[in-house]
Amino acid sequence: MSVQPVGSHRHRVVVIGSGFGGLFATQALKRADVDVVLIARTSHHLFQPLLYQVATGILSVGDIAPATRMVLRKQKNAQVLLGDVEAIDIDAQTVSSRFLDRITITEFDSLIVAAGAGQSYFGNDHFAEYAPGMKTIDDALELRGRILGAFEQAELSDDHDERARLLTFVVVGAGPTGVELAGQIAELSRRTLKGAFRHIDPTEARVVLLDGAPDVLPVYGGKLSRKARGTLERLGVEIQLGAMVTGVDAEGLTVKDKDGTERRIESQCKVWSAGVAASPLGKQLADQSGAGIDRAGRVEVQPDLSLPGHPNVFVIGDMMSLDKLPGLAQVAMQGGKYAAQQIVAGLDGQDPAQRKPFKYFDKGSMATISRFSAVAKVGKLEISGFIGWIAWLFVHLLYLVGFSSKLSTLLSWAQAFFSTGRNEMAATEQQVFARIAIDRLREHTEAADGGTGAAREAG
Ligand SMILES: Cc1cc2nc3c(=O)[nH]c(=O)nc-3n(C[C@H](O)[C@H](O)[C@H](O)COP(=O)(O)OP(=O)(O)OC[C@H]3O[C@@H](n4cnc5c(N)ncnc54)[C@H](O)[C@@H]3O)c2cc1C
Repeated sequence: MSVQPVGSHRHRVVVIGSGFGGLFATQALKRADVDVVLIARTSHHLFQPLLYQVATGILSVGDIAPATRMVLRKQKNAQVLLGDVEAIDIDAQTVSSRFLDRITITEFDSLIVAAGAGQSYFGNDHFAEYAPGMKTIDDALELRGRILGAFEQAELSDDHDERARLLTFVVVGAGPTGVELAGQIAELSRRTLKGAFRHIDPTEARVVLLDGAPDVLPVYGGKLSRKARGTLERLGVEIQLGAMVTGVDAEGLTVKDKDGTERRIESQCKVWSAGVAASPLGKQLADQSGAGIDRAGRVEVQPDLSLPGHPNVFVIGDMMSLDKLPGLAQVAMQGGKYAAQQIVAGLDGQDPAQRKPFKYFDKGSMATISRFSAVAKVGKLEISGFIGWIAWLFVHLLYLVGFSSKLSTLLSWAQAFFSTGRNEMAATEQQVFARIAIDRLREHTEAADGGTGAAREAG
């Protein structure tokens, strides 16, 4: 175990997470008289909104995931540590993180927790084996391998039913991620792969988007939901609404319709984008501070994003529950900047009781459906089609971190949108099988060593 020395006498800020909340909080402290330690389990900052484009061969990993220490290398008061935070002690003011078998304890004066959210299977975690989610780079690369692998297997098969199963792609969850993913799988099969096989016709692939809700993109509602649905249907996506998934296995899914009847969809490649659960660190913080926790595991924070009785501990982004704010990048970025400002104000002598509550400025939200078509809602303004897509393009380029990422993304988009090609169509065996292999190795080793977790060394 090592105790991380952090500056000698300057105020010590620890930030957990290098996503939108953690990175923006750290950057907002650039000129502050503090020492910042950012601890994250991944060495990169991930632009999650474009993960689906990595999964479908448009963008490379580097486009959307710059190394955090490179982003922060000129920020002299910030240090980046790789580690999975396992324990936070808000009274002792320490954070304990693990990297392989090394435990590091980092002391803090102020703490900003931005560990985000993972996929939720609503109590059916075993679905994950065959219908993984889309939250990480590993998820996106695995999905790319599984999508392309299904086409490859179909090319080799002489069996009609097997081919049909291999060429059926099911996306569970018709929120923005599900809609974007279904649209891109359809475009991949209809445009990019057209003519690339000799025994199958990839354009006949079946892409099913299903959800228990009565509409696609329910958060947008009304006209925009209808437009999104129409565009998806024109792309050949089959939309099944009011449909609850009750089982997932290697060969397909069992689905229950509104009238109570159960049916099967035979499908090799399934992806889950139906729900989120906040980082389990939220429960630790709630237990220690007496804060409430909502159904998604998010911590009910004070109006200044802090924990009750602990004005020096902030919970932001996808982990916080406040005023029904949605899990959006802007909420996390603005929360990160706000928490940083409160810390600086405290150093200038402000009493926490005088803090003005966090106020979210809604800049709108958007989702692409296909190339040249997106829906966007900014206040009361609703945009769709080509204009919506231009707005989407502009906003995503604006928020991508780093000039080189912006440039390479723009080039990859030009390739994907104006020709039939996509730059990132390679997939490896490890991408497809590593997750299952690591999980099995972990179970095996934990069973062998009595559950002490030594298998983490494999991860
Ligand atoms: C596929 C997808 C598409 C999306 N599309 C959009 C969109 O179009 N528009 C939009 O506004 N929002 C979108 N979102 C939501 C948006 O990405 C999130 O709201 C935002 O990333 C939340 O920021 P955060 O900082 O709270 O968490 P994250 O960005 O998720 O960052 C969490 C960080 O914490 C780290 N971490 C987690 N647990 C630990 C631990 N125990 N120890 C150490 N580090 C840890 C992670 O490695 C990561 O660095 C999308 C999300 C996904 C998954």
